[in-house]
Amino acid sequence: MDAIALLGGTFDPVHYGHLRFADEVRHALGLTEVRLVPAADPPHRAGPSASAVDRLAMLRLGAAEFPGLVVDDRELRRGGKSYSVLTLSELRNEFPDTPLLLLLGADAFRGLPGWHRWRELLDLAHIVVVERPGVNLEAGLPAPLVEPWRDRLVTDPGLLLGRPAGSIFVQPIAPQAISATTIRAMLAKGSVSAAKLHGLLPPAVLAYIELHHLYGSGSDAS
Ligand code: ATP
Repeated sequence: MDAIALLGGTFDPVHYGHLRFADEVRHALGLTEVRLVPAADPPHRAGPSASAVDRLAMLRLGAAEFPGLVVDDRELRRGGKSYSVLTLSELRNEFPDTPLLLLLGADAFRGLPGWHRWRELLDLAHIVVVERPGVNLEAGLPAPLVEPWRDRLVTDPGLLLGRPAGSIFVQPIAPQAISATTIRAMLAKGSVSAAKLHGLLPPAVLAYIELHHLYGSGSDAS
């Protein structure tokens, strides 16, 4: 039985920090696919700057570079607040016994106690955390996470596929200091050459941004 793995985000825009994260976890855990789930209206942060249509289009272009990465647009179709607990409950109803894996970067994991009905997430899915440059995962874990970390942390990834939910696992990946915030800031400056952005996000995504003049990118960037 394969697991269903989800990487949620605003993907504003999608970049290699997301895509390689999903790809590495897919390979490391031997998964058929990882679903990338764009949020409609993320509850715990400011609204995205690109529209849902553009974020979805960019995500599809980015995912196409990586076999096994698929886009699941259920949160956009559902509309309203994109609570992960609703998304995982939906999947749990569809797949009662299948392991669900919620993939989180270290920053998102540390922010988990701020999420709607977050404790339920731990019983709906396994949490797979990856390190993110600049975020120290264990040092000063937020107090509400100390107990789940102590009780649920597993070091054998095989355990994740043997039961449907309930564990926390840290997947080592090659660290990538890429964030959408930095990319948006570079684009907004206007003077940044496309060459500087090339290693950060897929060429097809960059071409889409330029074509649609997103994030203040200049119309003459080519
Ligand atoms: P922003 O800079 O706008 O906050 P972001 O680059 O952090 O965006 P999100 O869409 O908010 O991207 O992130 C979605 C998920 O991907 C989160 O779990 C986040 O921790 C993770 N993630 C994003 N970039 C990286 C990265 N470079 N390394 C590891 N995880 C990442």
